[in-house]
Amino acid sequence: MNTAQAPSSTANLGPGFDVFGMALDACFDTVSVAQEGSSITISSDDDIPLEYTKNTAGIVIDMMRRDFKIESGVHITINKGVPAGYGMGSSAASAAAAAVAYSDLYNLNLSLDELTRYAGYGEQASAGSIHYDNVAASVSGGFVIVRPEPLRIIHLQPPENLALCVAVPDIPTPEKKTQVSRGVIPNMIPLHNVTTNVSLSSSLVAGICTGNISLIGDSIQDVIVEPVRKHMIPGLDDIRSLAVSAGAAGVTISGAGPSVIAFVDDDTADMNRVERAMQEGFGRQGIDCRTFPCSVAKGAGAVQ
Ligand code: ADP
Repeated sequence: MNTAQAPSSTANLGPGFDVFGMALDACFDTVSVAQEGSSITISSDDDIPLEYTKNTAGIVIDMMRRDFKIESGVHITINKGVPAGYGMGSSAASAAAAAVAYSDLYNLNLSLDELTRYAGYGEQASAGSIHYDNVAASVSGGFVIVRPEPLRIIHLQPPENLALCVAVPDIPTPEKKTQVSRGVIPNMIPLHNVTTNVSLSSSLVAGICTGNISLIGDSIQDVIVEPVRKHMIPGLDDIRSLAVSAGAAGVTISGAGPSVIAFVDDDTADMNRVERAMQEGFGRQGIDCRTFPCSVAKGAGAVQ
């Protein structure tokens, strides 16, 4: 049996829709694989689909098994640490851990980009279209930039003092949340909005490269996707201004939401204050939230 663990992640980081991802050590999924029988079976105590064609880990392994012409079946055991459907890359964490565990089981020696490509098939099932931002971050760790076909992942290591706080509101999410929240994005975008988001994305990457957390925080804005999604996150503007007043450098929706993420300079700001501010922001809407203060994570890896 081989076991791998993969971290939660945040996607988009404001302006980088489907392009930016960052691994977070807030929580982890653990996936074990054992050669067994002649088909793919899954067990998990968590509330996720157990048919392999509907589970992101099962879909990834099915694809790898076909490509590498592996005849034996496999039993997959999934332990969810990442809450599903809240924008913390839960489906991606299972997919990433599955790709790593299965690759190890058969010594496939796949590169990070190959593992990411396989993990991406899982996202197609849960989100309705392939997007690699969460899986690339979960597989590789750190901050990633996804270049479209031919797929190329650019890896950057964010500054050590970058801390984050994810607030996960206790609100129900639609069954196909990611598909629903992708469905509200318009097909046509005014050019000046595109220019603004390109400018913000470029300065965010400059902030990561130069270790400038205030530039990162200032660039975590989005004039394209956030305006059409913000109604799904009650109190977003209030949460943002409370967290920034409490010392956060910037605040945005985590992935497709409804979680909200604050970027914090650990050297100068007090994380407890930011955490309380985010709780107060959701609290003003009558919503409880769980907060996950965290750091940038390393990528998926084997667990002995
Ligand atoms: P997230 O932001 O957490 O990735 P998604 O909406 O993209 O949220 O994915 C969650 C959806 O994917 C849920 O409907 C869940 O049932 C489905 N899903 C399938 N397999 C898994 C898995 N192994 N882990 C988590 N969710 C899964």
